[in-house]
Amino acid sequence: MPTQSPQPDHYYATSPYKDAFDIGYPQENLEGEMYKYRCKFCKKLTTEINGQLENHAPDCAYRLQRMSRCDV
Ligand SMILES: [Zn+2]
Repeated sequence: MPTQSPQPDHYYATSPYKDAFDIGYPQENLEGEMYKYRCKFCKKLTTEINGQLENHAPDCAYRLQRMSRCDV
């Protein structure tokens, strides 16, 4: 595809959010919004979460689960 931008790999490797980047949460499609997805637990849009655990709602079951796992 000609639309691919030649971004170097190290851009991602040096991202300050690298450690928090997390897209493994369960997602669901928004009704009537074909291209929008949200966290199945806290209903935050994937565009709001942006791969960061802290952008889930404070009481999001997935966030709590991940946080507790990180603490151990
Ligand atoms: Zn969530």
